[in-house]
Amino acid sequence: MALPEFPVEGGCQCGAVRYRLTASPLSVYNCHCKDCQRFSGAAWSMSMIVRDEDFELLSGAIARYERVADSGNVIGMNFCANCHGWVWNDPPARGIKVARAGTLDNMDWAAPVGNIWTESKAAWVEIDPGLVNFPRGAVDRTPLFTAWIQSRQE
Ligand SMILES: [Zn+2]
Ligand SMILES: [Zn+2]
Repeated sequence: MALPEFPVEGGCQCGAVRYRLTASPLSVYNCHCKDCQRFSGAAWSMSMIVRDEDFELLSGAIARYERVADSGNVIGMNFCANCHGWVWNDPPARGIKVARAGTLDNMDWAAPVGNIWTESKAAWVEIDPGLVNFPRGAVDRTPLFTAWIQSRQE
């Protein structure tokens, strides 16, 4: 799928938090971990990996929650302070944010290229074996980045 012209924007439901992406994300994929199921209220969440320098917060007060993962890593979760919509995470890896693809104003171009934590997916979710899939977290996200670049060229 072709990329849009950047910048593109997104935000929370109430409109207080707005952000701008000045360049393509590095990848978009689905996460089926139990925490994403709880926070999204759905079977998976859509993670959009963006470089810090490509993500500009334009407006809105942020409420931050520090989630301790099973690994012991602390993940900063950032929500709109007004409507509490989940907008992005700060992972332990430096230099990137994990934004929620569903907050994009238009996500027609953001088809996910893979799945992580498939071992905790709901039994009725069918995983496309042609995507880049991991039973647990992707310690090295390189295959997800490569698949994203390849999917843009099709
Ligand atoms: Zn809001
Ligand atoms: Zn997750």
